[in-house]
Amino acid sequence: MAPLMLRRIPDTVDAVQAAARGLRMHTYAALSRMARLQEAVEGDAGEAEVRLRLTEEHGVPLLEGEVRATVTVRCQRCLEPLELPLEAPFRLAVVPEEGAAAFLPGDWEPVVADPRRLPLLSLLEEELLLRLPHIPRHPEGTCRPPEAPATVSASGGREGPFAVLARLKTGG
Ligand SMILES: [Zn+2]
Repeated sequence: MAPLMLRRIPDTVDAVQAAARGLRMHTYAALSRMARLQEAVEGDAGEAEVRLRLTEEHGVPLLEGEVRATVTVRCQRCLEPLELPLEAPFRLAVVPEEGAAAFLPGDWEPVVADPRRLPLLSLLEEELLLRLPHIPRHPEGTCRPPEAPATVSASGGREGPFAVLARLKTGG
């Protein structure tokens, strides 16, 4: 079955029905619809790309895929903004209660939810939240002081913005 393109990802999905149809999805979800993620990041721009498919095994809906988004957080070392690409692959088995998880194959992570009203958007948000570092920081040595850094030319010498501008004007 070709992937089904949806304009808007639903808040909830009937996982039983969707799994029976072998639903595949490639769509985007606005980050502004993810309230908990909003509290953890700066700004509400952007969207998450979602690829997923729903299948079932022994009546258990299996949700497999990946959600990706780039969020902006505050670096805890220099307090400057830090763009963070998040990639969250997931393999979730939807079980109606905690005990049912025991019968699952090992590499499926159980998620307790009503399969008829699976909170799809909330689950994807959760996957992104899990990938957020507790103390976000730029990679070691890449924090910048707040003042604009001077341009460094190819020869290794320091070159101010006016030198660049002068060169542009003379065409050399
Ligand atoms: Zn930093």
